[in-house]
Amino acid sequence: MSSHDLLLTGGRVIDPSQDLDTIADVAFVGGKVVAVGPNLPRDGVADVRDVSGKLVTPGLIDLHTHVYWGGTSIGVDPTDYARRCGTTTMIDAGTAGAGNFAGFRAHVIEPCEARVLAYLNVSFAGIFAFSDTVMVGESEDVRMLHPRACLHVANLNKDLLVGIKVRVGARASGAMGYAPLDIAIEVAEEADLPVMCHLDWPPPSRRDVVTRLRAGDVLTHCFRPFPAAPARGDGRVREEILEARERGVLFDIGHGMGSFGFATAEAMLDAGFLPDAISSDVHSLSIKGPAYDQLVTLSKFLHLGMSVKDIIAATTSGPARAIRRPDLGTLKPGRIGDATVLEISDAPVSFTDSLGETRNGNKSFVLSGVVIGGKWWHDAA
Ligand SMILES: [Zn+2]
Repeated sequence: MSSHDLLLTGGRVIDPSQDLDTIADVAFVGGKVVAVGPNLPRDGVADVRDVSGKLVTPGLIDLHTHVYWGGTSIGVDPTDYARRCGTTTMIDAGTAGAGNFAGFRAHVIEPCEARVLAYLNVSFAGIFAFSDTVMVGESEDVRMLHPRACLHVANLNKDLLVGIKVRVGARASGAMGYAPLDIAIEVAEEADLPVMCHLDWPPPSRRDVVTRLRAGDVLTHCFRPFPAAPARGDGRVREEILEARERGVLFDIGHGMGSFGFATAEAMLDAGFLPDAISSDVHSLSIKGPAYDQLVTLSKFLHLGMSVKDIIAATTSGPARAIRRPDLGTLKPGRIGDATVLEISDAPVSFTDSLGETRNGNKSFVLSGVVIGGKWWHDAA
């Protein structure tokens, strides 16, 4: 007997949440994963897909995206993005603030078949002026950093919100220093949510930011190039970065346009410091490079020598921990039936970082298919 809706057969199943890397079938029923194992019964299965030679992973999570398409100049379309790189869950990193979250929810998040969750920007307007032609930081004006407005909207949208976002640095907050971070933490403590913090150029200093972050808070752009890099020029990891990891702060790549350096990444990986999450920071500018998308970002780490299993962990179980959603990023039976099917190509490829430095390689992840809610949702072939 069998009444599975969908069966993926013969793939290399990599699920770090179960410490799994094995050839197996994966079965889905009623929107959920129901079994992972060899030679599952095929009789009566509505949709059998042979995925031998391919990787089957939990639905990929991109912890740092900007998908408020149409409502903000920074946003890209989440459905197009999920089809492009197999991200079944996209975490929007504070594109919207208290003043415009309702539109994000109604016009983008709810109509999207892929899952969109969000950090709420502590700035009322969210990231409202980010484009080729206009660039104004949303944390530059203290009048926009309204803790009660932010808390109110956070409490109204608890089902979708995973934390409070704040951007500090000369680019995003002008001369405000760490004040916007202190305000974000004030709201986050009251709402019992973590903070995701962006840091670009000082002020504030890396030390002033990193020492403020609490267990479970996320430092994004964590492998950024100088200034505010986590490693010194000679490759040694900064003390406050090591102390923060010890304390339980989580480290997210957030590649984006200006926030990823090969030299930094090589120093950190050489020191054995793996990111908790690898994310693209995709937005309307970075999608044209050097980040491009989540699969390109993950492929850079493949080139840098991180293991496939560690990379998949950093885009499934790692981000699931950061957003406190252990039901996502896993293929455990009974959990949500999202999966991503990938291939590893050995075609020559050239990767570029935020400083324009390149690395030539011959390994990259390529999308084959996407399962959402237990259904074959997109065929990349
Ligand atoms: Zn971002």
